[in-house]
Amino acid sequence: LIAEAGLYTASDQIIILSPKNVDSVLLNSTAAVLVEFYATWCGHCVAFSPTWKNLARDIKEWKPAVDLAAIDCADESNRKVCTNFGITGFPSLKFFPAYSSSESRGLELRGFPRDVRGLRHYIIDKLEMHNEAWPPACPPLETASEAEIDNFFQINNVKLLALVFESKDSYVGREVTLDLLQYENIAVRRVLDTETSLVSRFGVTDFPSCYLYNSSRHISRLKVLNEARTFYSYALQSLPGVVRTGKSQIPITDLLKNSTLQEWRRFNKTRVYMSDLESALHYSLRVELSGHTSISGNDLTALKKYIHVLAKYFPGRPSVKSTLKTVDSWLQQQKGTEIKYSDFRDVLDNTVQTSDAVLPEGVQWVGCQGSQSHYRGYPCAFWTLFHVLTVQAKEMGFPDPQEVLQAMRGYVSSFFGCRPCATHFEAMAQESMDHVTSLSAAVLWLWSRHNRVNNGLAGELSEDPHFPKIQWPSPELCPSCHGLKKTGEHHWDQKEVLTFLRHYFSSAHILMDYLQ
Ligand code: FAD
Repeated sequence: LIAEAGLYTASDQIIILSPKNVDSVLLNSTAAVLVEFYATWCGHCVAFSPTWKNLARDIKEWKPAVDLAAIDCADESNRKVCTNFGITGFPSLKFFPAYSSSESRGLELRGFPRDVRGLRHYIIDKLEMHNEAWPPACPPLETASEAEIDNFFQINNVKLLALVFESKDSYVGREVTLDLLQYENIAVRRVLDTETSLVSRFGVTDFPSCYLYNSSRHISRLKVLNEARTFYSYALQSLPGVVRTGKSQIPITDLLKNSTLQEWRRFNKTRVYMSDLESALHYSLRVELSGHTSISGNDLTALKKYIHVLAKYFPGRPSVKSTLKTVDSWLQQQKGTEIKYSDFRDVLDNTVQTSDAVLPEGVQWVGCQGSQSHYRGYPCAFWTLFHVLTVQAKEMGFPDPQEVLQAMRGYVSSFFGCRPCATHFEAMAQESMDHVTSLSAAVLWLWSRHNRVNNGLAGELSEDPHFPKIQWPSPELCPSCHGLKKTGEHHWDQKEVLTFLRHYFSSAHILMDYLQ
């Protein structure tokens, strides 16, 4: 269940204000904060909340410089805070510059834009208004001159400078600068098209366009699919040597020499491996479930649906499929209200005596290997398993579009060991899983929710620096999935994404290397 009663939850990347934290968040903070004052009963606030959430996702990399917050003024315990800030109508937005004092009542934004792009530009305008107490984490946003660039590497401790050449009214350069603020070894500056000497020195012909410049004065143009913010930011964040602050990228070979990990299995990062899927089955059925000595009620229903979906759609080796079918028919025959895990386990393991069915023991991660043992593995393979199953259901054309998603929802809710993950997933399921009315929509629902989860995790401790969380598939992996709206905003071409997913997760495309 969602813990908060208001319009936002902890997983929305929005600070939820209350009398307890309001002073510490808004006053004397090193980051600027934009606050939405809302009331749960106000229809306009409900209508605006998806935009606020999308904005939070869109500018999550900017957090050290500017953060988003929200407070529910309909909650009586918050009334005093809202009154003190002079709030009378909803939704209201107020900007609190960094280092706001206790007298500050914030800068009210009247007639604010109702779209992510407009709000993002507004935030940049307001950030630029800081003149005395500039947020320390915020890089300079003003345009760079030729003199500054000539002395850049003497003054700044970075290896690479990215220059976005653009017109005066373009926000792209400043957006990319903020998108990269949590990355080391790189700085970003904007240069105006009127800076003619730099424009000709770099040979710039397109505005916007992005150029890389290093301390040896080498110039190269950044290759991107589209000349736009998301593509620049993604390409710069992926450059060799550019790392998220605090995440050192020790080469994988060195890491493994010094660790107790098993031998590293070389793999293709753009393929699905059957070994990961079988390992996920082993871990789920023999390890995760074994924590539940007896299984009854909703948990039993969830287990039956999960195994049934596996038996129906898992595109595995005949021996594994046969195991799943045996366990499924045994489970369907259990008419009581409870089963013992030990009985389940006997059926799973003893199938070998009655037929050639067997699910290999142990885990052997391949595409889901982590550079250290606490990274990746099971959750990676669990996602992959369900992407494969939704695609498989689509290919086989069974009529129920909800079947695989509901099986995943039930399993995650009853058994998935990471409980915060389960709460988060259930909140997403409650919000929109019921709206899925076709098998194609099921494939796309899981893809977009997986991206949403990972958007919230980029930069977290659990992120393997060798496998950064990106909005997937990247422009390299699927160029046609990415497009631009007329406004210059990034746009996923869902038709192309669906075609891509159907191929990427198809049974014929799964690699059988390293199987036991
Ligand atoms: P994963 O995100 O596990 O992705 C595995 C592989 O799937 C990638 O290597 C890529 O090939 C492919 N892929 C990536 N994105 C997509 C996509 N959008 N669509 C299709 N394929 C894709 N961790 C938390 O810290 N907090 C949470 O709330 C949380 N919730 C979770 C909920 C569920 C249901 C699951 C299964 C996991 C959750 N996790 C959560 C774990 C987290 O999502 C990752 O699985 C984990 O951090 C391992 O990440 P990874 O880099 O191996 O890639």
